Amino acid sequence: MIDVKGLHKSYGNHEVLKGIDVNIHKGEVVVVIGPSGSGKSTFLRCLNLLELPTSGRIKVENQEITTPKTNIDRVREKMGMVFQQFNLFPHKTVVQNICHAPIKVKGMKQTEAQNLAKDLLKKVGLLEKYDAYPSSLSGGQQQRIAIARALAMKPEVMLFDEPTSALDPEMVGEVLAVMKNLAQEGMTMVVVTHEMGFAKEVGDRILFMDQGYIMEENNPKQFFENPTHPRTIDFLSKVL
Ligand code: ADP
Ligand code: MG
Repeated sequence: MIDVKGLHKSYGNHEVLKGIDVNIHKGEVVVVIGPSGSGKSTFLRCLNLLELPTSGRIKVENQEITTPKTNIDRVREKMGMVFQQFNLFPHKTVVQNICHAPIKVKGMKQTEAQNLAKDLLKKVGLLEKYDAYPSSLSGGQQQRIAIARALAMKPEVMLFDEPTSALDPEMVGEVLAVMKNLAQEGMTMVVVTHEMGFAKEVGDRILFMDQGYIMEENNPKQFFENPTHPRTIDFLSKVL
């Protein structure tokens, strides 16, 4: 589904991604871990062209997106993204947050968008918050709404950048549970997280990034039980 070859990204003369090669298959859950500053967010942001790669190419469903002709908006419609900060529109209600893009970008009828919002709110367990404002919700609830809002565009892939890192500990579980359900429904997901329990349980494959490279990748069992690269072993000794 996503095919990345020789992806480089520099800011000025600071090279942040130094040649990333990876394939992400339909229905796969790929978990990206690694130390702060290793390029995880930059990698995710390159996948949906929030950052333009300096060189290399990315194909999504066999369409090269790293060409000047690419319609960046079309690419982003295929990829839902959820950030550490939920970024809900504060002056809009929950339903308005969820319906905004489908109506504005896809021209969906209001009643259809509202029905979709109801379905998605059921999925994330927050139907009763339909008319609430974000400020009345807990962080965990806001993040579940942010996930529903991303799903409203019916993306092919969901990208998560540390979706639980800004949450109080007691709210992490409810967000991970929603993500686990999505994975079980077959959603293709790329998840940057420090939640090693989630990585082990839900991940199909773990990528370990360090200093702009994918230093090691493997299925969760092998990755956590038999890491081979010294940097991986050092990282795991600090987080496990
Ligand atoms: P991670 O998500 O793994 O913590 P990032 O991808 O956010 O890492 O950052 C990798 C490196 O790129 C860091 O050194 C960071 O300071 C730098 N960086 C990220 N975004 C920018 C930017 N917009 N401009 C300049 N440097 C950036
Ligand atoms: Mg980051």
